[in-house]
Amino acid sequence: VYEEMNQKEKLIGIGQMATGIAHEIRNPLTSLKGFVQLQQELKHEEKDFFPIMKQEIDRINSIVDDLMILGKPSVVSSFDKVNIKDIVDYGLSIAEQFARGTEIKFIKEYDNRNPEYIRGDEKQLKQVVINLVKNSIESMPDKGTVKVSIKIEGQDKVVLSIADEGNGISEDNLQKLFEPFFTTKKDGTGLGLMVSNQIIKEHKGLIQVDSKLGKGTKVDIIFPKI
Ligand code: ADP
Ligand code: MG
Repeated sequence: VYEEMNQKEKLIGIGQMATGIAHEIRNPLTSLKGFVQLQQELKHEEKDFFPIMKQEIDRINSIVDDLMILGKPSVVSSFDKVNIKDIVDYGLSIAEQFARGTEIKFIKEYDNRNPEYIRGDEKQLKQVVINLVKNSIESMPDKGTVKVSIKIEGQDKVVLSIADEGNGISEDNLQKLFEPFFTTKKDGTGLGLMVSNQIIKEHKGLIQVDSKLGKGTKVDIIFPKI
């Protein structure tokens, strides 16, 4: 009976999510169509709508990008022995690109000389690091520090922490963080944390968010160590 309930709940969840996705994609598509029509009616010297059209296409692309990684069923994803430090280094190097031209600094609190292994899907885990560091960067106007640490806890846990000095999250919003499409950003998709949470759950991990409005945010991810 339990199994059936879970299956049913899962389907309801997927249904709601599909509705949400359809809605989010339809908005930029409708706007694109409108601008294509306007563009057709224009004479050469008049204002062109290509920049807006490009922006709307980008928006659809980011929604699809964020969801792509979830599309892969977990049975297919390969859970190999991976060094979490390598994954964080890689994810951080990608995420750092988003901070170019700012005075945002990155501090690593881990020693690369000895590896720390967990079982996981490299691609998905890199995505989690990118999503979280990107959120930290976006939470700070143009300066501040993002601190990334990896620590062993007890005998069997690896804790990855990402802490920033950004605008923080209100108590109300803390409850909504993992909901699909919850965003407070003008260009946000509201999918980064939902996707990350999903990936971490598949890795038998746990995500915890600690935040103070105006002070900053710390995200801890606790993985089983192997
Ligand atoms: P998006 O980044 O597209 O908005 P996310 O799922 O990554 O979507 O994040 C959802 C929301 O959670 C953000 O819009 C923001 O309000 C809040 N948030 C997440 N991480 C942070 C952070 N490090 N600092 C402040 N707010 C954050
Ligand atoms: Mg995000």
